[in-house]
Amino acid sequence: MDTKSGARERLSRSREELLDLSHRIHAHPELGFEEERACAWLENVLADHGFAVTHGASDLPTAFVARAGSGPLHIGICAEYDALPGIGHACGHNMIAAMAAGAAIAAAAVADDAGLSITVLGTPAEEVGDSSGKVLMLERGAFDGLHAAMMVHPAPVEMLEMHIIAASMFEVHYTGKPAHASAFPELGINAADALTIAQTSIGLLRQHLKQTDRVHGITTHGGDAPNVIPAHTSARYIVRAQNVEELQDVRDKVVRCFEAGAIATGATLEIRGGSKPYADLHPDQGISAIYKRNAEALGRTFPDLGVLGERMAASTDMGNVSYALPTIHPMIGIDSLPAVNHQPEFAAHCVTEVADAAVIDGSLAMAWTAIDLARDHETRDRLMMRR
Ligand SMILES: [Zn+2]
Ligand SMILES: [Zn+2]
Repeated sequence: MDTKSGARERLSRSREELLDLSHRIHAHPELGFEEERACAWLENVLADHGFAVTHGASDLPTAFVARAGSGPLHIGICAEYDALPGIGHACGHNMIAAMAAGAAIAAAAVADDAGLSITVLGTPAEEVGDSSGKVLMLERGAFDGLHAAMMVHPAPVEMLEMHIIAASMFEVHYTGKPAHASAFPELGINAADALTIAQTSIGLLRQHLKQTDRVHGITTHGGDAPNVIPAHTSARYIVRAQNVEELQDVRDKVVRCFEAGAIATGATLEIRGGSKPYADLHPDQGISAIYKRNAEALGRTFPDLGVLGERMAASTDMGNVSYALPTIHPMIGIDSLPAVNHQPEFAAHCVTEVADAAVIDGSLAMAWTAIDLARDHETRDRLMMRR
């Protein structure tokens, strides 16, 4: 049996186990850096399949690395498993986790024949938007020695390369002074007014943003009582731009809007976080082409999305990985339209038969891609040369 058939055969024997993993994670959504159960379930599955598992990798309680194989080409496969507040696995990270495990189990079965080593990186907290699992694991050396990294993310439709832009998430806190809102309003400093002024300024700023920029956020605390001048308000904002350089420029402008709120009201402003943003993603064209060929061999098709593909920009810490080593982040379609990522309806789609079939296809397409990377001497040499 050739290595690709061997990988497929191994995967088919683990089908139920992988779909059970996907469904279990989906049924128990956990927020970023709190993914204790998902992390443990993944570690157990991989340990059962002979992987050497390091729990709490990079000093993160819900991160892990799991390694198998002893071949010279070392491929990293990223697993995400965090959910969103209130809407659970509406980004389908349960599928990402199961696909990472599936790809790794299938590739590990033939790793030594193919000349591969496989490391699964359990990367927490992708949805947090700043100082996330991959950002910290990169800093702390978890990706050192890897020749390439890959993961597959669910989406409404198949996309080889999604438009991934840079992003920075930060918290804003205004502190004013409480006072009776009717009897002594002149003694108060209104922290809610500060936030209103900032939001108005950001609204005006939109005229001067590039079409590719994004600014969006939520108020996380707006005050405590209508008859008390709000002494404390807070918000969480995300700023995005084409790349990390442009991101800094947009972020500076948005920060000035928040400063405007403080100046106008006399409230004090504190901005927390945002120092470790997500980078734009540069997929490795060679690995992308190989992934596409393998996905198509499994019957998957990549529709031309035209301008919609450009408009649909999102961000991921896999962008930071792509700055460090050759990386791909293809999107696998689960036929969910009109439901899209970050909607409860999308969460429901992430455990359907279509999603389950995608889990198996995504696993095998990644395993076959890893095998091709090791077998194609030109690609293998290119990947191994640069480290
Ligand atoms: Zn998401
Ligand atoms: Zn996601």
